[in-house]
Amino acid sequence: MGAEEGTFEQKNKNEAPKEIDFSKAPSRIEAPVNYKTMKDFPAYKKYFQEEWKTDKDKRMLTDQEIDRIKLVNASNLPGEYKEQFKSMNDPRLGDVMIAIVPADLWKRRGKSQPSESEASRDLVLFDESYFNKGDKVSWMSHELGHCLYWKNNPLPAEYQKDSITFSYKDIKSKEPYPNNKVEHMAFQKQFEYLKQNGKTKQEISKMMEELKDPKGTPEYSAEDMKFFNKLLDDIFKP
Ligand SMILES: [Zn+2]
Repeated sequence: MGAEEGTFEQKNKNEAPKEIDFSKAPSRIEAPVNYKTMKDFPAYKKYFQEEWKTDKDKRMLTDQEIDRIKLVNASNLPGEYKEQFKSMNDPRLGDVMIAIVPADLWKRRGKSQPSESEASRDLVLFDESYFNKGDKVSWMSHELGHCLYWKNNPLPAEYQKDSITFSYKDIKSKEPYPNNKVEHMAFQKQFEYLKQNGKTKQEISKMMEELKDPKGTPEYSAEDMKFFNKLLDDIFKP
């Protein structure tokens, strides 16, 4: 065995060093994300302890489970998420906290969406399994849009009222979601970001139409699509 190993080493020693393929290297070096822990933010921990009910098994998260949730300020987000934060162009959003929730805990919550916002708490939540894959649908812009709506008008009763007030009155929607004033801003920020990144009106519309929940059911109905398409018409107006 020893002799064989020696031969192998010898062979490699004489080989010319491999050339580095710089085309595969990252375009810029990014500092590692400085995630914060729940221990540093008792208020957020309290929110998870008291408010984060799970639909699935009707129990609250344990302290150990909550401690697995990672936190990062919107202004310290990595990569494409930082680009989305920057494109909002509003420094007030810098103190919004993003909570990255491990996939098993997110599943227990029983929601089909990969993200949600608690605008009045300056909090955005993401399913870690979605977050790590990359945000093709630009949900970060959407959730920050909710936070922006709150910052512009931080009155709980107003936010609540606006979230059930139809935005496009000429679309005879039966439900106030998504055709309401708050979602209007959130989806507008999301679609504008996608537009900036080269997506066409048709591509965005198709993407929304094809979104499915984990069970494979379309996320949005034909009626919801009327709202998205009208909003896209406004965004892409020449
Ligand atoms: Zn929304």
